[in-house]
Amino acid sequence: MVKMDWNALAEKALAGDCLTREEATAVLTAPDIELLAQLDAAYRVRYHYWENRVRLHFLLNAQSGLCPEDCHYCSQSKISAATIEKYPLLGKQEILKAAAQASELKAGTFCLVTSGRTPTESLLSNVCEAVEAVKAQYDLKICACVGLLNDEQAQRLANAGVDRVNHNLNTSENYHPEICTTHTFRDRVTTVNHVQRAGMTTCSGGIIGMGESTDDIIDLALSLRELDITSIPVNFLIPIPGTPLSESQGKDLTPQFCLRVLCLYRFLLPEREIRIAGGREVHLRSLQPLGLYPANSIFVADYLTTPGQAAKEDWQMVEDAGFVLETADGSPLAVEAIAMANK
Ligand code: SF4
Repeated sequence: MVKMDWNALAEKALAGDCLTREEATAVLTAPDIELLAQLDAAYRVRYHYWENRVRLHFLLNAQSGLCPEDCHYCSQSKISAATIEKYPLLGKQEILKAAAQASELKAGTFCLVTSGRTPTESLLSNVCEAVEAVKAQYDLKICACVGLLNDEQAQRLANAGVDRVNHNLNTSENYHPEICTTHTFRDRVTTVNHVQRAGMTTCSGGIIGMGESTDDIIDLALSLRELDITSIPVNFLIPIPGTPLSESQGKDLTPQFCLRVLCLYRFLLPEREIRIAGGREVHLRSLQPLGLYPANSIFVADYLTTPGQAAKEDWQMVEDAGFVLETADGSPLAVEAIAMANK
């Protein structure tokens, strides 16, 4: 194997140039002995754009299960036999209560997620109403994830005050038919286009560990780069019992490989917000703090249907690794606010 100069890749990323396919593959296939050098190079890029700041996002599963789609990784799909809580859209008061918790946990962004292919008229109006109420009471950015959207639906969310919409591409266009047959990769790209046309920023990422190849991982990053996505959640598959991918996938992910994926995403998407999302605790395990060198954002508290570690452990990890929390606008959180929250 040719010895790679990871700093040369960092220089390339900082100059705005895209890595070649060969370079991107080398990042993902490097031996573990190269990992610290890779992290060091990725951190140079991360520091240039984000210094040592870390953003916290808080997830609310505002409607769970009951989804007619067949995404093979998802416990909320109609084809999943996973034992999860299933409920229709939470009421406004419950959503406000969750927003209060997000605020207490120092999250800058409140991510309101509903299961389903596309929002019904009543779900969309209730979400818009809840968003207006949250914005009136809390200093939180709102990211809504409500399924496939057309232009009009996207515009209504924007008018209600939604700052950003999440719609993950999940994997490469080539591999997408292997993980879902009820909608296409192009359907997902079209939703991202509608969101951008409505003037909101986009959150879109993927899930690693679904049986995809290194080329698929690279292709996903290149699609996100081309689409000019603002915020990129990188999930590592948690094989939830009862889902089609539970037996065969997600189990070969090592902490080192997950870190290499994060380094690659930093090189290919240098100035974007890159978030270590679902699977952080499960797959990075004791190496979680190293993930902050390429990534600049994490979820605090629980994921959609799986638990996360306690917020205090996240704050402690951020502090111990020499990073600082920031608001969704990029200003550092006051030290007193963090100390109060730590009590
Ligand atoms: S559309 Fe969303 S909620 Fe429905 S199965 Fe796919 S990922 Fe799960």
